[in-house]
Amino acid sequence: PSLSRSSDVSLDTVSWRDIGGYNKVKERLQQALEWPVQHADAFKRLGLHAPRGVLLYGPPGCSKTTLARAAAGASGMRLQVLSGAQLFSMYVGEGEGLLRAAFQRSRMTAPSILFIDEIDAIVGGRAEEGASSSGSSDASTRILSTLLTEMDGLESSTVLSTGVLVLAATNRPHVLDAALLRPGRLDVLLYVPPPDSEERHEILKVHSRGMPVAQDVDLQALAQRTDRFTGADLSNLCQEAALMGLREGMDHATEVKRMHFESALAVAQPSLSVEQIRRS
Ligand code: ATP
Repeated sequence: PSLSRSSDVSLDTVSWRDIGGYNKVKERLQQALEWPVQHADAFKRLGLHAPRGVLLYGPPGCSKTTLARAAAGASGMRLQVLSGAQLFSMYVGEGEGLLRAAFQRSRMTAPSILFIDEIDAIVGGRAEEGASSSGSSDASTRILSTLLTEMDGLESSTVLSTGVLVLAATNRPHVLDAALLRPGRLDVLLYVPPPDSEERHEILKVHSRGMPVAQDVDLQALAQRTDRFTGADLSNLCQEAALMGLREGMDHATEVKRMHFESALAVAQPSLSVEQIRRS
């Protein structure tokens, strides 16, 4: 199968600077990704194994994909992106083929990252649909077993596997098959929570960095008033505010002012539910 359906975003310029907050998650990711490459000799000396798989889990729109891209950008590792939903929706055999080809390519371009977004789409079907939908359940089983075989292959072959890391993301960790979370597979679990007020402040700073923000704008106060907003919501809020400024002044707009942020905030809706925040 053609690999053109997976995208190689290694030339992306996303860096850790583009991520507001989440310092703990960043640090853990750096450890998992960069240490085994940068300190390869020490790892060998101490008998340490590099992690083969990391699972990022948490509510939608809260930085998982951005973290994966920044991790790749910062470590100089090549990044291949696969979508679990896409793999699952393919014709019989095609999803497995694509997955195998993606692993092969990752091994050839090591050190590299294979990012599987929405991994629950591959292995969540079984738990949710159970026996009532044996067609999708078969597809799940086949793709899951291909994934497990490939990940186990990474572990047993020491030369080729150097520096191949599987990074997966999900909003529904509870539906994942336990086999996927065993040692040597996705055994580093990183929770990416909804951003708290301090993190929202950092995210607002990132997204207003390129804007001429007026003196009267208090990003910290905005952060406190944006409960249940995701990183994606905050990015939209900044864009909306700038658009308000543009609408008002059209070609003469030079600043994004407090009142523009206020107008944007008046129509903005948070994506996260009270329930999602409570669970975090
Ligand atoms: P999904 O589960 O829906 O795939 P996700 O958790 O992968 O979501 P991202 O795709 O990383 O979320 O985030 C969506 C957008 O929100 C990003 O393109 C980015 O602009 C913005 N964003 C999210 N988190 C942050 C952050 N911590 N700092 C800056 N921008 C962020």
